Amino acid sequence: MPAQIIDGLALSKKLRLAIADQVTSLKQRGIQPGLAVVLVGDNPASQVYVRNKIKACEDAGIHSVLEKYEADFSEADLLARIEALNHDPAIHGILVQLPLPAHINEQKVLEAISAQKDVDGFHVSSAGALMTGLPGFWPCTPHGCLKMLDDIGYDLRGKHAVVVGRSNIVGKPMALMLLSRSATVTICHSATQNLAAFTRQADVIVAAVGKQNLITADMVKPGAIVIDVGMNRNAEGKLCGDVDFDGVREVAGWITPVPGGVGPMTITMLLDNTLQSAERSAAVRQTA
Ligand code: NDP
Repeated sequence: MPAQIIDGLALSKKLRLAIADQVTSLKQRGIQPGLAVVLVGDNPASQVYVRNKIKACEDAGIHSVLEKYEADFSEADLLARIEALNHDPAIHGILVQLPLPAHINEQKVLEAISAQKDVDGFHVSSAGALMTGLPGFWPCTPHGCLKMLDDIGYDLRGKHAVVVGRSNIVGKPMALMLLSRSATVTICHSATQNLAAFTRQADVIVAAVGKQNLITADMVKPGAIVIDVGMNRNAEGKLCGDVDFDGVREVAGWITPVPGGVGPMTITMLLDNTLQSAERSAAVRQTA
């Protein structure tokens, strides 16, 4: 029997309705959650991502501000804008769309965002909070993957999860989130020898690499859950993941499609983080 599909679009729809309800009740208490999205340069993929994020905010009733700058915008000017947004009471979340032009130090910019408004979860103190189990913003993509596992009612405790990819925005935080649920976690990367020997042992595979057809049916244990984070363009220019969907679907128990899997969940978790941030600021206001 082919794998069941974990439908990220349907789950996103359900979660975004619940977020919109919470936004409405927050507004009744006098607070409208606000997200600032900062885009530097004209990377076509970034423009699409930013448009989708702004649209999702509008649909959920979240106030959004798009700050767009030319590719030659200076690092100093960008840092000054972030500082202004850090102090703007209408803004609860700040997102700087990556990648930034080469003349700008990405890490410096991410660290300039107030940890209280770090809804992307890329600030070093957010990473530290995830690492140590303290409250903080979790990066949206791996958090969305975890939500998908929760939605199918999967108990990770004692299961073997193999994360392929070790970036700071997906692979590493994904591994920590799975660990926080008491999975046994293996992280694979470009220097891993015999990747298939690891993935074949996995109850859960999360593929976050950026290589079409990296994960094939022979690399998957029958019944395993396969979460495909990858976003690639195939020879016909169509969006595809890291997993050979048609082949792996015949072996896996559950699988996420691309498109319609992790992608929409990433934006949903961004909305959720922005809402959480606004709720925290409402709580602070109440106690002040
Ligand atoms: P990075 O390029 O930062 O990281 C890719 C990782 O894959 C690296 O850790 C790299 O290892 C590893 N890798 C490369 N080749 C292999 C290989 N042959 N075998 C095993 N591991 C390998 O990418 P990101 O983490 O930013 O993104 C990964 C993918 O997810 C991309 O396709 C991206 O577009 C997509 N993405 C999708 C999102 C969504 O919302 N759906 C959001 C974010 C990303 P090493 O560290 O050794 O170089």
